[in-house]
Amino acid sequence: MPRDPMLTPEEARAIVLNHVQVLGPERVSLLEATGRVLAQDVLARRDNPPGDNSAMDGYAVRHADVAAARDDAPVALEVIEDIPAGKVPQKAVGPGQASRIMTGAAVPAGADTIAPVEDTRPAEQGVAILAIEECGAHIRRRGEDMRGGEPIIKAGTECGPGELAVLAAVQQSFVSVYRRPRVAILSTGDELVEIEETPAEGQIVNSNTCALAAFCRAHGAEPVMLPTVPDDEAAIRTTIEAALRADFAVSSGGVSVGEYDFVKQVLDDLGAETIFWRVAMKPGKPLVFCTVGGVPYFGLPGNPVSSMMSFLQFVRPAIRKAAGYPQAAWFLPEAHARVESPCDNDGDRRQYLRATLRYQDGQFWVRPARRQGSHIISSMLNANSFVVLEPRQCAEIGDPVLVQVVGEFALSGEIAAKNSDL
Ligand code: AMP
Ligand code: MG
Repeated sequence: MPRDPMLTPEEARAIVLNHVQVLGPERVSLLEATGRVLAQDVLARRDNPPGDNSAMDGYAVRHADVAAARDDAPVALEVIEDIPAGKVPQKAVGPGQASRIMTGAAVPAGADTIAPVEDTRPAEQGVAILAIEECGAHIRRRGEDMRGGEPIIKAGTECGPGELAVLAAVQQSFVSVYRRPRVAILSTGDELVEIEETPAEGQIVNSNTCALAAFCRAHGAEPVMLPTVPDDEAAIRTTIEAALRADFAVSSGGVSVGEYDFVKQVLDDLGAETIFWRVAMKPGKPLVFCTVGGVPYFGLPGNPVSSMMSFLQFVRPAIRKAAGYPQAAWFLPEAHARVESPCDNDGDRRQYLRATLRYQDGQFWVRPARRQGSHIISSMLNANSFVVLEPRQCAEIGDPVLVQVVGEFALSGEIAAKNSDL
C-alpha cells in the first residue's frame, strides 16, 4: 500500500460517507419501527378528532340559553339524554334543554358549548348551570389535530414514541422503514481468547467484538459477530470473505505496522480499493478504510479504546447514513463545556479524551478521565463525552473546550434541586 498523507478526521469521515449508500426500505410492524427511520411519507387517513367531541364531563348546552348563568342566578335546563363516549347522540338539544355528556363523547346537534360538571348542580328534572365560559368552550373540533388526506409525517423521520402514537392513530399497523445495516464484526489476534475461555499465559480476553457489537445495536445497526481469528493470513482471509457478505465489515486489530499485522495484506489480495489507512487522531491513528467488491470495510485498531473511538468517529456515521437518518443525526452531537481539570495536547494529532460531562448552574462542565491510555478499558465507564483537543491546545480549569456527547449526562445544581423530590 502506498504511503499517503495522514487525513484529518473530517477528511476521513467525508471519504467514508461518500462510499456509503442509503439502504432500501422494508415493511415492519408498528412497534418494530421504534428507533427506525421512515422511508415513506405518511398521510392522515381521516380527520382527528373524527367529529366534534367534549373535552370535559359535563352538559352540552346552547350558549344563548345560559349566557347569563351565575352562582347566584343559576339557569335550569331539562336534561334530555345521557351521552357516554362512543355513543351516537340520538336527540338534538333544543332551547331550554341540555344533554349529559362524558369526555370524548360526540357533541349532539343543537348544542354549541360544554358546561363542565363542576359548574353545575343537579336540579329538579334536570340541571342548574352556575357559570358558563365563551360559546364553543370545551369542544374539541373535528380535524383540529390532523386533517384527513394531509401529510402528517415525512420520510426521513426517526420513529420515537410520539411518532408511533400518531402512526397508530392514523391506523398504520405496518410502515416502511429503511433497512438497518448488517455489520459483520471480527477481531484478530493470536493472543485473544473468547469471553468464556480461560486465558493462558500471554493471552487476553477478546473484548472488542462484544463492545463493537453493542455499539452497532446502540446506533442503529444489526451486528453479526464472527469468531475470533488468529494472526494467520489464510484464517484472516476466510473470515474477511465471510464478513463481506454483510452490508459493512468491521475488524479490530492487525492494521498497524507490526510483523503480524496481516489485515491490509489480505484486503489487498482480495482486490480492495484502499482509500486510506491512517487518520491524524489519538487514540485511533491506524484505521483502514476500503471497499471490497463495493462493501465498505473498516479495519479498526486493536487497542480496545482506539477501536471504540474509531467506531464512533467513522463507523457510526456510516451506519446512520445507511439506515436513512437525516444528515444532522449522522454525527455525534457537539457542545462547549468548561474543563474541570487541566488538559493539553502536546502532540501533532487531534486528541479525543474520554470524559464525564455534566450540566450545572447553567453550563456544561467536563472532567477528562485521569488515565487516557488506549488499553484502559475502564476509562470508558462514565465516559459520556469526549473532549476534543487540537494539536498544541491546552486548557486550564474553567477554559471552554469542544466536547462530543456520547451518552446521557447528569444535571446538577438548580435543575437537579427541582427534581430532587421526584
Ligand atoms: P493490534 O492492533 O492488533 O496491534 O492490537 C493492539 C493491542 O490491542 C494489543 O495489545 C492487543 O492485545 C489488543 N487487542 C487487540 N484486539 C483485541 C481485542 N479484540 N480485545 C481486546 N484487546 C485487543
Ligand atoms: Mg494484533
